[in-house]
Amino acid sequence: MTVKQWKQVITISVIVIIVVLLALTIFFGIRYSHYANLSEEGSIIDLSEYDDIDTREATRIFKYFNSVDAEGTFDYQSKYSSLYVDNDFNFVDKEGKVCYLTFDDGPNKNVTPQVLDTLKKYDVKATFFVVYRDGSAERALYKRIVEEGHTLAVHTASHNYTKIYSSVDAYLDDFERITKQIESTTGIKPTLFRFPGGSINSYNMEIYRELVAEMIRRGYVYYDWNVSSGDASSSRVSVSTITKNVLNGCSKGSDDKIVLMHDGSGHGNTADALPGIIEGLKKQGYTFSGLDNTVAPAMFGF
Ligand SMILES: [Zn+2]
Repeated sequence: MTVKQWKQVITISVIVIIVVLLALTIFFGIRYSHYANLSEEGSIIDLSEYDDIDTREATRIFKYFNSVDAEGTFDYQSKYSSLYVDNDFNFVDKEGKVCYLTFDDGPNKNVTPQVLDTLKKYDVKATFFVVYRDGSAERALYKRIVEEGHTLAVHTASHNYTKIYSSVDAYLDDFERITKQIESTTGIKPTLFRFPGGSINSYNMEIYRELVAEMIRRGYVYYDWNVSSGDASSSRVSVSTITKNVLNGCSKGSDDKIVLMHDGSGHGNTADALPGIIEGLKKQGYTFSGLDNTVAPAMFGF
């Protein structure tokens, strides 16, 4: 190459580098200003330190985010005006060992009625993190869950990981759809939810901090779990395996337990395992309750 050609190559390279640096500065500048709004003493609260989050600490963290006024930083913050709930976050320590049985992915017209019958028989209250269904049988099940004293909470409308975790906006759009369905069917506006796949999963690594902060800012409380029934680990997990997973998981540690189970399509074995699970947990000294805003969330490291 001639000297002139070399000069051209160098000039173009310098321009490209400047443009890239400028783009990075703008991108991280926006992110930084957002996090600055959501931070305390300059840095975002690092919940990964809180494996075993105590109730006072959880209350403090939730109250903090709930008080953050970040409106205007990102477009989604001024959208979805119906997605705000009043919440006091007064998490309190309960007497004795409490087990919170939770069922995701329902209602399902075959599985959910059996689960509800069993809960009624043993006079046990539980929590249902539901998906969007519009059939008359499923709409009746949303109502039955409420009428029988259980907690009806949001899981997701579509349960489509790629879609809902593509952006905070996409998540809120999905969340609004299921919230409206629950509200129009039962008259109750849900305040609790569970992220599909948990609050941190391989689909939401890019956005989970922003997403968690935004949901708390809107007043919602989310629950991961500290015991898994393993009922979704393969297509058909046996009744004895599901029962064993829950009873073993709950026998460890003295903290309250939030147990992950599923009542969606194909989870008949979970429904069949439920009587044995309840009897076993009673023997371990547990009482049962639905989740409400006094229960400190089990949270994966934020
Ligand atoms: Zn799910």
